[in-house]
Amino acid sequence: MKCTECGTTMKTQRENYRYDESGLKKVTLVGIEVSRCPRCGNYEVSIPHMEDLHRLIARAVIEKTTRLTSEEVRFLRKSLGWSGVDFARNMGVTEETVSRWENGAVPIGPQADRLLRLMVAQGRLTTTYPTERLSQINPKKATPARLQIEARDDQWELVAA
Ligand SMILES: [Zn+2]
Repeated sequence: MKCTECGTTMKTQRENYRYDESGLKKVTLVGIEVSRCPRCGNYEVSIPHMEDLHRLIARAVIEKTTRLTSEEVRFLRKSLGWSGVDFARNMGVTEETVSRWENGAVPIGPQADRLLRLMVAQGRLTTTYPTERLSQINPKKATPARLQIEARDDQWELVAA
């Protein structure tokens, strides 16, 4: 494969890749094929089964027991296929409130946090969601879900959470 920037042949290898494109801060894809240009530093990442991957991330995020971070609120909202306007309407809040949750100006409240999780669990995920987790969510602490995800046998798997 040639570099799209400078035409040099790129070197492909498997790496642990921080999936910042997800908008989340601590999601690592384990053993992903990354092609790097030795001359200019340009790189390309090959991420298979994107839809499954996003479903798995959403699933892991709604099962964590600390408050959702602003990045996670945005990720989950998008995973539902909703615009900010849709989200405001479905949550029963103003669009400004949604913006504040997503840009980190104000933390999402405990009820909205639970409701969003339930909507994600209900809307897109086929497996059962342990609702008892809702009572364990710590409203005082927002730590990002730290995930390591590996593509195994054509399927995404959570290797560490
Ligand atoms: Zn290059």
